[in-house]
Amino acid sequence: MPDIVLIGGGVIGLSIAYELATRGASVRVLDQGPLGQESSWAGAGMITPGNPLGAKSPENRLRAESFVLWPDWAARLREESGIETGFARCGGIELSPERSVSDIAAAAATFQSEGVRAELIGSHELRELEPHLSPELGDAVHLPDYCQVRNPRLLKALLAACAARGVELSPGSPVIGFDRGGQRVTSARTPTETISAGQFVVCSGAWSQSVLAQAGCSIRVAPVRGQIVLLEALPLPTRRILEVGPRYIVPRADGRLLIGSTEEHVGFEKRNTAEAVAELIHFGGELIPSLKTARFERCWSGLRPGSPSGLPYLGRVPNTDNLFVAAGHFRAGLMLSPITAVLLRQLLLGESLSLILDELLQSR
Ligand SMILES: Cc1cc2nc3c(=O)[nH]c(=O)nc-3n(C[C@H](O)[C@H](O)[C@H](O)COP(=O)(O)OP(=O)(O)OC[C@H]3O[C@@H](n4cnc5c(N)ncnc54)[C@H](O)[C@@H]3O)c2cc1C
Repeated sequence: MPDIVLIGGGVIGLSIAYELATRGASVRVLDQGPLGQESSWAGAGMITPGNPLGAKSPENRLRAESFVLWPDWAARLREESGIETGFARCGGIELSPERSVSDIAAAAATFQSEGVRAELIGSHELRELEPHLSPELGDAVHLPDYCQVRNPRLLKALLAACAARGVELSPGSPVIGFDRGGQRVTSARTPTETISAGQFVVCSGAWSQSVLAQAGCSIRVAPVRGQIVLLEALPLPTRRILEVGPRYIVPRADGRLLIGSTEEHVGFEKRNTAEAVAELIHFGGELIPSLKTARFERCWSGLRPGSPSGLPYLGRVPNTDNLFVAAGHFRAGLMLSPITAVLLRQLLLGESLSLILDELLQSR
């Protein structure tokens, strides 16, 4: 019988599993499909810079704590798996959707007030940094510490590191119910097995609400579809992440370039739509005119686990002794995966918490 069963093998479940296994816990990960092929695979891998000493809101504090964990996290995974995750400090530039100077100045001031390196630059400096951007673009914020990870490779590395640490990985194992005895969950049920364990964690991404409902617990997590377009653009017209509100361009070192993303409330529907794909390609061409003739490679979509506040549910489920949740990371689950793994390890193994976030460490 494993000490801990994790329900969901996306970046959140696999990161928690790996972290627990490094402390000697016996862990099993159940996934209804293949492991690591849902939102975590579909994402863009942007890791926004933060500074724990200056972060003001709980959301920024959580992001900042994760940001500082990333370099060591990526190095450990590379060492244990032999797989390079593509974690890199590529830098980024934030532009205003309405090209409003005051919006951009405010964004730069917020980063600076939190102790994040951010420089307000004018159109002349922008063109010097990024000569391929449209000449129409005005002021911007330059964020030299912006990072990225290649999430499909991160998932491969996590799977290999988990396997090397003895984590039992069970794809094709949908959890369809729980058995309870008083305040405790005694087992999780799949169509073919009843799996007992000491503790259980629901980390089922966009599906977490329905999984937890089977244990009599109510949270609000809903799927938010995000569509992405992949182009090949050789030589790369930019090496930095470019962000304009919810839209962005993320260049990969091998000459590929992601253009994302939409936010659509359409249930568990993953198809790409002609309208969204056309809009994303148009956005890319407006930002970098040379992309209009880049090679279209493919497009896909993923279901982000959206929560009402945009913050994840992290903590013990009320009225249970041994059922936990780590879900609802919305647009930041890749970014927040190291800190989520550390906090859940601390909670599950009864260690003191390195980060007290009352707003987060309870189910709302
Ligand atoms: C287009 C797009 C771009 C994104 N870009 C970024 C980005 O740049 N940076 C960033 O930080 N984040 C980004 N995200 C968000 C990020 O991908 C998510 O927040 C993160 O992947 C959530 O991870 P997860 O493990 O909770 O969910 P998932 O990866 O969806 O994993 C959940 C798993 O649970 C399994 N499951 C569900 N129900 C059951 C069940 N009953 N039994 C067993 N298993 C079950 C599923 O099969 C799935 O494998 C992006 C997302 C999208 C879609």
